[in-house]
Amino acid sequence: MSSSSDFVPAVFNGFVDAIGNTPLILLKGPSERTGCKIYGKAEFLNPGGSVKDRAAKFLVDGLERDGKIQPGGTIVEGTAGNTGIGLSYVANAKGYRSVIVIPRSQTKEKKDTLRQAGATLIEVDPKPYAHPNNYIKLSGRIAEKLPNACWSNQFDNVDNRRAHYETTAPEIIKQVPDLSAFSCAVGTGGTLAGCSLYFKEHFPNVKIGHTDPQGAKLHRFYKDGELKSEGGSITEGIGQGRITANLEGFTPDYTFEIDDEAAMKSCFELLQKEGLALGMSSGINVAGAERLATELGPGHTLVTILCDSSSRYQGKMFNREFLASKGLPQPEWLQPDLPEEI
Ligand code: PMP
Repeated sequence: MSSSSDFVPAVFNGFVDAIGNTPLILLKGPSERTGCKIYGKAEFLNPGGSVKDRAAKFLVDGLERDGKIQPGGTIVEGTAGNTGIGLSYVANAKGYRSVIVIPRSQTKEKKDTLRQAGATLIEVDPKPYAHPNNYIKLSGRIAEKLPNACWSNQFDNVDNRRAHYETTAPEIIKQVPDLSAFSCAVGTGGTLAGCSLYFKEHFPNVKIGHTDPQGAKLHRFYKDGELKSEGGSITEGIGQGRITANLEGFTPDYTFEIDDEAAMKSCFELLQKEGLALGMSSGINVAGAERLATELGPGHTLVTILCDSSSRYQGKMFNREFLASKGLPQPEWLQPDLPEEI
C-alpha cells in the first residue's frame, strides 16, 4: 500500500497522457466509524485538478474520431466549471480553442481558472434545463453558429461515461480487488454510470450507491420513481434533474441524500483530521460512502470519488459570510480571533 524505494513514477508525453491512474487514499475517520475500509479515489490529483479531466480527454478523442473537429477548431461546452477547465487544458495541449458557457452562480475560482487558460467564458444567469437559455442549450447553439466549432455535449455524449468504464473502474478494481461497493454523486452521470456499468458487467457483486445533495431530483427518482426537487444545495457540479444519456440504463442499488451541513462537516473533518483539502462534492461523496458502509456493515471495502480540491471553492466553503447566509455552521478554526493578550 505504501510507496517503496523501487517505485518509479510515470513519465508522460504531455498533459493528456497524464490524466487518470490516480491513487486511492484510505479515509481514516469514515473507516474507523464504520469498521470498513473506505477509500477515496484521488481525482483531484489529475493534471487539470478534477475528475472531469477524464471526460474531457475522452470527449475530445471522440470529436477527433468522428471527424467533428478540425485542426485549430473550437470546442464549445456548457459546464459548472470542471469539465470546462479539463477541456480548455486538453484544447491548449492539442491546438484547439475553447468556448465555455457557465452559470454565473459558480465560483469565481473556477471562472478565473478558465480565463487564465484562455477559454472564452460566457457567464449566464442560471435557468432550468427546459429554458432555451439554459447554459447547456446555449452552448449547443453557439457551437452550431460558430465557424469551425463543435459541441462536446458532456451530458448526453456517452464518450463521457466511456472514460469511466474504460479507465476509472478498471483502475479501482486493480487497486482493491476485494471491492464491495462504489458510490458517488451525479452531475452528468458519467462517473457513476460509467463505473457502475463496468462493475455490473465484470464484477456483479459490487454494490452501487448514488449520493445526491439535499433536495435533488435524482434521489427521489431512484427512491420513488418521481423526478421531483425539494430545495437546493450549495454544492456545485452535482444534483442532476433529468436522465441524461450518460445515465440511461443505469440504476443504483442504494441512494442517499446528504444535506449541506453533513457535506461541509465531512469536508472540514477531512481537511482538519486527514490533511485532505477537498471540494464540496467530495464531502457529499465521503458522507454518502459512510452511509453506504453503515448499511453494508463492518468488513467491507468501499471506494468513492474525491472529485476536486477546496481551492476551487475558497469564497464559499471558507467564507464566514457565505456560510452564515446559507444557515451553515462556521468551523471554529476558520479565521480564529487572536487571543486578547496579543
Ligand atoms: N464533482 C464535481 C466537483 C464536478 O464538477 C462534477 C461534474 N460536474 C461531478 C462531481 C460529477 O461528475 P459527473 O459529471 O461524472 O457525474
